[in-house]
Amino acid sequence: RAKSAGGNRFEFADREADERAITRHGLTNALPAALERGEFFIEYQPLVHLGDGSVHGAEALVRWSHPQHGVLGPDRFIPLAEHTGLIVPLGRWVLEESVAQARVWQERHADGGPLRINVNLSPTQLHHPGLVADTVEVLERAGLSPGALCLEVTESALIGADEGLLKPLRQLADMGVDIALDDFGTGYSNLANLRRLPVSVLKLDRSFTQSMQRAPADPVDLKIVEGIVSLAHSLELAVTVEGVETGAQADQLRELGCDTAQGWYYARPGAPDRIHSLVLTDAI
Ligand code: C2E
Ligand code: MG
Ligand code: MG
Ligand code: MG
Repeated sequence: RAKSAGGNRFEFADREADERAITRHGLTNALPAALERGEFFIEYQPLVHLGDGSVHGAEALVRWSHPQHGVLGPDRFIPLAEHTGLIVPLGRWVLEESVAQARVWQERHADGGPLRINVNLSPTQLHHPGLVADTVEVLERAGLSPGALCLEVTESALIGADEGLLKPLRQLADMGVDIALDDFGTGYSNLANLRRLPVSVLKLDRSFTQSMQRAPADPVDLKIVEGIVSLAHSLELAVTVEGVETGAQADQLRELGCDTAQGWYYARPGAPDRIHSLVLTDAI
């Protein structure tokens, strides 16, 4: 530890680190009771067709309404739940809740085509032996067709995945469930590797979208996105982009051939009723 004037700063940094560790510890311990008490809730963010701006579906994003800390985003607690295994029951709850919600949307907008639901899966859920059975059960109970569900798995979770890990995803894909590769472009997956993954959607990471915000956009980034889109399409994968914040970005990404988009420009994640009003008023 530094002894001179800098010493205070180091002690302060130490204390901050301690506090963060204590908070993490407290949050981790509080997770199971929070699930039982119903402190988690889901916000839905619309996915829209870049072509005409119509609503394609929504992504379910979990939040924790903590009695002391207020509303916590998933980055604060998903890694903790992942670490302790609580992600399995929590993830099952998210799936159940959001699949039931998608069924309600479909009933209310029968003429608007099927609204779809995207649900995130973490690596531990992928490894859990009950994944396929749980998913089938949840879909059947809600009466939602498997084709209306998209499970999002991050690229990094599938890097180096062996057949054992891919098998449940393949089973789900064979049933008609879409599998999306989330945060695509941030990992180091070999593009040729895409062929052996049972995925039907690439979700281009926000970092690409961000580089479209600069005007003029970095020409190399444009080329990269163009290349990814054309490769994806030749493999019959749909391309979704995340993090669209401006109309200029949306225009650029539409021109580059991306299929669907998600981001604050269209709507922030919100309560399920927001999706109704967006579909009804065609507000997007
Ligand atoms: P993700 O799946 O990549 O979700 C997209 C994140 O980008 C969300 O953050 C969303 O709120 C945010 N976002 C959407 N549009 C914009 C935009 O225009 N600009 C910016 N700056 N951000 C935007 P969120 O809700 O904090 O979720 C973070 C991550 O937590 C998610 O990343 C996902 O990996 C994970 N997550 C969320 N819900 C669940 C869940 O139920 N289960 C699991 N396993 N992971 C979840
Ligand atoms: Mg996602
Ligand atoms: Mg994502
Ligand atoms: Mg992301």
